Amino acid sequence: MKERVLSGMQPSGYLHLGNFAGALKNWVRLQDIYDCFYCVVDWHALTSNYANPSPIADYKHDMLINFIAAGLDPNKCTIFLQSAVKQHAELHLLLSMITPLGWLERVPTYKEKQTEIKDKDLNTYGFLGYPVLQAADILIYKARHVPVGVDQIPHLELTREIARRFEFLYGKGILTEPEPLLTESPKVVGLDGRKMSKSYDNAIYLSDTPEQIDKKIRQMMTDPARKRKTDKGDPELSPVYALHKIFSSPDEIAHVAAACKTAEIGCIDCKRILIKNISKELEPLWSKREELTGSPSMLKDILNAGNRRAAAEAEKTMELIREAMNLS
Ligand code: ADP
Repeated sequence: MKERVLSGMQPSGYLHLGNFAGALKNWVRLQDIYDCFYCVVDWHALTSNYANPSPIADYKHDMLINFIAAGLDPNKCTIFLQSAVKQHAELHLLLSMITPLGWLERVPTYKEKQTEIKDKDLNTYGFLGYPVLQAADILIYKARHVPVGVDQIPHLELTREIARRFEFLYGKGILTEPEPLLTESPKVVGLDGRKMSKSYDNAIYLSDTPEQIDKKIRQMMTDPARKRKTDKGDPELSPVYALHKIFSSPDEIAHVAAACKTAEIGCIDCKRILIKNISKELEPLWSKREELTGSPSMLKDILNAGNRRAAAEAEKTMELIREAMNLS
């Protein structure tokens, strides 16, 4: 019996190269080792996009296509939509009864995001309760592991605390405390040198055409002190080099670094190598995307089967929870 893993992604924008290299590739690897449940968490997307929900349908579709195109295999893992499994909402409600307010107000990202995101009013009950919904997503599948980066450990700790409180109050050995599955994943920088993110308008999207990617990379800034081709550059100051470190071979990385420092190559030559390597990485994904776009019923079938399997698992846990809380 493989141990279970749960992970989710919010359809709050189109998937980009950062999501691919930083998360999705790891998901593909994990599906061979664990019993993986991968969820498109569309209710989570609503916690911060409730005022403008119309693009979410498109984002969900793009996410699903990219999950499969990147190599998630529905015969190896369960791919499903959060809002199709209503038991998540039921468990969210029940867990909200036992979660002290102080625990939620202490979650580091709660205050951070409220100050960071200026164009949305996140002073809502749903946004505060976001980590309880996340706990429900994980606990309902009795997931043993959740792949996280170091910065997300406090989030998972809250899920563990909620599970412990549930067990303390109703003590039936129903819930499993999930462990973080620490994953080393590269941080992909965006076109402007900040972290690539759909919120910063600096992303290379998986749905971009080769021409769009070519154009975006050609327009990227490099070492700002390197004005002419004959100026010697410092690769560490260039986001193009940061992307080379993720997408190019060790030989190419060493070559572009050395040739930048001696002004042997110009920024356009350096970018050309990067464009070639990113295209090589994404080519299998592009052809699979094309295939999937042409067969919408295949995607629908994959999602329906995943939803059914997830709902059956979630219902098993909910039956025990309802009984433990005297609701059955
Ligand atoms: P965004 O910052 O675009 O809103 P999300 O927060 O939805 O992205 O992230 C979804 C997943 O992709 C997470 O596992 C996150 O760690 C990963 N991820 C997002 N951006 C990057 C990036 N620039 N580099 C590496 N991983 C990333």
